[in-house]
Amino acid sequence: MSPWFAAATAAIPLACAAAEPDLALDVRLDPATRELSAVAELARAPSDFRFVPHKSLSVRSATRLASGKLRIEYGGILPPLERNIDFRGVLQALPPMASPEGTYLGSASGWYPQPAELFTYRVRLSLKGRQKGLVAGRLVSEEDKEGAYSATFEYDLPADGIDLMVGPYEVREKSASLPDGKQVRLRTYFFSDISSLADAYLDDSARYIERYSKAIGAYPFSEFSVVAAPLPSGFGMPTLTYIGAQVLKLPFIRATSLGHEVLHNWWGNGVLVDYARGNWAEGLTTFMADYAYKEGESPEAARDMRLAWLRDLAAVPAGEQRALAAFRSRAHGADAVVGYGKSAMLFFMLRDAIGEEAFTRGIRRLWDEKRFKSASWNDLRAAFEQASGRKLGAFFEQWLTRPGAPTVRVLSAQGERNLQVTLEQAKPAYSLRLPLEIMFDTGSETRWVEIERERQAVSMQFKERPRGVRLDPQLRVYRMLEREELPPILRQWVLAASPALIRVSSVSTALAQRFFESPYREVQAPSGNEPVLIMGLHEDVDRALARLSLPPRPELLAGKGTAQVWTVQASKTPVAVISAKDEAALEALVRPLPHYGAQSYLAFEGARAIERGIWPSIAKSIAVTSSIFPAADSPVPR
Ligand SMILES: [Zn+2]
Repeated sequence: MSPWFAAATAAIPLACAAAEPDLALDVRLDPATRELSAVAELARAPSDFRFVPHKSLSVRSATRLASGKLRIEYGGILPPLERNIDFRGVLQALPPMASPEGTYLGSASGWYPQPAELFTYRVRLSLKGRQKGLVAGRLVSEEDKEGAYSATFEYDLPADGIDLMVGPYEVREKSASLPDGKQVRLRTYFFSDISSLADAYLDDSARYIERYSKAIGAYPFSEFSVVAAPLPSGFGMPTLTYIGAQVLKLPFIRATSLGHEVLHNWWGNGVLVDYARGNWAEGLTTFMADYAYKEGESPEAARDMRLAWLRDLAAVPAGEQRALAAFRSRAHGADAVVGYGKSAMLFFMLRDAIGEEAFTRGIRRLWDEKRFKSASWNDLRAAFEQASGRKLGAFFEQWLTRPGAPTVRVLSAQGERNLQVTLEQAKPAYSLRLPLEIMFDTGSETRWVEIERERQAVSMQFKERPRGVRLDPQLRVYRMLEREELPPILRQWVLAASPALIRVSSVSTALAQRFFESPYREVQAPSGNEPVLIMGLHEDVDRALARLSLPPRPELLAGKGTAQVWTVQASKTPVAVISAKDEAALEALVRPLPHYGAQSYLAFEGARAIERGIWPSIAKSIAVTSSIFPAADSPVPR
């Protein structure tokens, strides 16, 4: 969900926010007939704007006023709303669309004359029928008479476009107090079928605004609205978020996406992104919203999210890895891996390195210094350097400019109470701060070490003799995971190019046909590297697992529900198992199962998942050898 700016090059100082806006629009719309008529007044010279009206609109007159303003009258019949349009995230560039069910005029659709630079605006909106609408900004006045609605909005900060949204909305309102006593007007513009969700959205919006006002600095606008879209969209702009009505019904949207979009009022719409020099806002927003909520849930939930980012990284072929500095917006999957996952992980590692207090100071400093200006990665580095008193040039340089991630492993661990650990990484070496878990006969301890060479030994002292060493078992460092560190998930089977099926009972193949995206072949035993699925009824499955020398049914699942599904960890050929009580229980999985690709195991009661999860990732443990027996690879002295 990217911010709406196309290219914010230079910030205009706040002083330009004069009483007279750069652009004043008077817009009249009848969604039933789709007729739009508008008057635009531009305060600047005609060379300073661009108006390529959408083909449905035509200019009726253009007049130079005595005040020097340019007045343009235009209008036409807008295209109807198309619900099944494929917009790939660039909603703002869709043609303008109107209908009684919903109207959306995107900022890049040619519905108004666009000033060449960032601009301030005032929009007066008059609507026919039982319709309400809005643009981003402060609601200055509003009138609602039977069959006619009008409202005026002002935006006196630098904007780079105007999106207009209209629909048969029921508006619900609530006021939130900021820590400094200021009030924020919260609103929902919902369709009647989701109006029962309005109060929950208002309460959660207030909660997020309060949270981030405390963490970063006061919410910079006077309103925040959650607006239902007739399209399956989801994006944020200053003072509002526009989210598909079907999406708003999903329970996790309030718990995650809403907070993410609220936070974009600070990162992206408050501090603007210098896109030409890379987009830092998605990573910082993901880190302080989506990831922070997982941290609030439990350390395991947070670790699972880091594991998901590292899994995404491992899935991108080496030749397609791109540098984080090159990320602008979510254009395709590989970009999201870097622009969201790697970027959020950069902030996570930064906080580990400089500590939570310095990190928080850096966040506040960035806000204080760059509010309503554009910021680049360099500005972020400077803010965190000043907050921590440390040089962070090398840290940012390697994580921003190098594609991919380091591959690092423990080569050997030798000694008694004086332990020497040799680490090895692929060329060219990264400067890394790595956690090592040192295991003793009773308990374990984590020590952080710093390395910067391809092979490097580090020494540490203990009171007790260490028995083993594990590298970064909590996945705190962005790196290429080894195979055993990546617990298998069902998506590997769903997407397999040439999957195989071992049918151990005479059951229908309907489930296998639906589960695999590619054609499968039936085999008798697992072989090779291509994923294999074992499918059948409970007793037959148990017999087959024993015959094939595979681990038995996991205890976690045994006896649960009517069907169980699991992947087998650390088997040479990737093996997954579907085991059901009877044929009906197997059939019940045909629809739901393909949707659970992110899981390692599940139990179903009929078609309902009653248990699911990802196997823990297993960090390789290296045994500590006594120093009198030199290891095969002798460590290079520091
Ligand atoms: Zn976002």
